[in-house]
Amino acid sequence: MTNLPRVTVWNEYRHEKLHAEVAAIYPAGIHEALASHLRSQGVAVCTATLDEPEHGLTQEALAETDVLIWWGHMAHAEVQDEIVDRVYRRVLDGMGLIVLHSGHFSKIFRKLMGASCDLKWREVGERERIWVVEPGHPIAEGLGEYFEIPHTEMYGERFDIPAPDTLVFISWFQGGEVFRSGCCFHRGRGKIFYFRPGHETYPIYHQPEVLRVITNAVRWAAPVAGPPVRFGHVPRPRELLRTP
Ligand code: ZN
Repeated sequence: MTNLPRVTVWNEYRHEKLHAEVAAIYPAGIHEALASHLRSQGVAVCTATLDEPEHGLTQEALAETDVLIWWGHMAHAEVQDEIVDRVYRRVLDGMGLIVLHSGHFSKIFRKLMGASCDLKWREVGERERIWVVEPGHPIAEGLGEYFEIPHTEMYGERFDIPAPDTLVFISWFQGGEVFRSGCCFHRGRGKIFYFRPGHETYPIYHQPEVLRVITNAVRWAAPVAGPPVRFGHVPRPRELLRTP
């Protein structure tokens, strides 16, 4: 890969077409809000959406993607299993995957986690404080001890995921719940980051701290060069051929 990772931002892109209040916040779609910020940081970005052929995630598109960002909510079931398997194989092969907000229930995230990924939720526009619990982690670079989102949907524990390899953020909500908001996983050669913020009716993907985390996560999740991975039967070493 190149020094600057090639990113594809995938968005289900339904709420923006169906709900005027969402379109007012994201007139060109959530994917374009994220893509334009990443482009301003010098990252090469493509976008893909559910209603494109193969959901915009062709073999060629994925082969040229170092990090895939995933936003989905109301149409998880419409994502074809064949495309999910294709993304899954690319992650095991080293492609980074950043799953945002309601993507916790996407087919690809549940397949990679091997768990229900269920959680509690409430939508009353309450305040969220996101605490950095791993301050030396590259995804937390440039942040303070915490940052706040003034109005958001609450997600609460239990979040039914395997224990993350690294937990970077824990959220507190005004109603008292807590949530593991920034979770790192490894699957095969691929790195996965789940990041909670992003309900579609709030301007969360215009907030600088949130965009900073996503940009940091792109850098973290990008593939690194390394030795090939081989599996299967291994020939007997020469030394053992001589043993009686
Ligand atoms: Zn939501």
